[in-house]
Amino acid sequence: MNRMQDCIIKAKLRANEIELPFQQDVSFIVNSRFTNAKGRCDYNLYNKNCVIQLSKLMLEHCDEEEIINTICHELIHTLPQCRNHGHIFQNWCQKFNQKFNMNMATRYKITDQSEAYQKAQKMSSRARQEKKFLVTCLNCGKTFRRARKLNPDNYRCSSCHGNLKIERI
Ligand SMILES: [Zn+2]
Ligand SMILES: [Zn+2]
Repeated sequence: MNRMQDCIIKAKLRANEIELPFQQDVSFIVNSRFTNAKGRCDYNLYNKNCVIQLSKLMLEHCDEEEIINTICHELIHTLPQCRNHGHIFQNWCQKFNQKFNMNMATRYKITDQSEAYQKAQKMSSRARQEKKFLVTCLNCGKTFRRARKLNPDNYRCSSCHGNLKIERI
């Protein structure tokens, strides 16, 4: 995803400019299941490395500034003394805000999400709700979700041609 790489580079540039001692080689992964959180920073106790997860919804629907904002937030979390949103964390937020005229908050509430992000959240939860039937192959156990109820007499499992069971979820 080029957009993500772009935003990561820009966020790191800003972080370097205010001399934030973040983990330079932190790895980033896209999380397609995040619906409320835009990002998360996980700390590995064994190798002391951080992994930053970014919401796919955000990457696809939010403007660049909102993505950079989220990445900067997570970069602060890579500091050992900034695992929480305490005063050290807040000081770094302020430095970003002052230097780059950003609007970094220490906590993201749903009401703080941009309109674009809220709209994307609604669409994704609707898409999930619409697939309300679970089809299970009685022979191989393969499962998939369907939006509409299908008559199990008319269909067979695509993998093994077994009989199907359908239930509302
Ligand atoms: Zn945070
Ligand atoms: Zn099957």
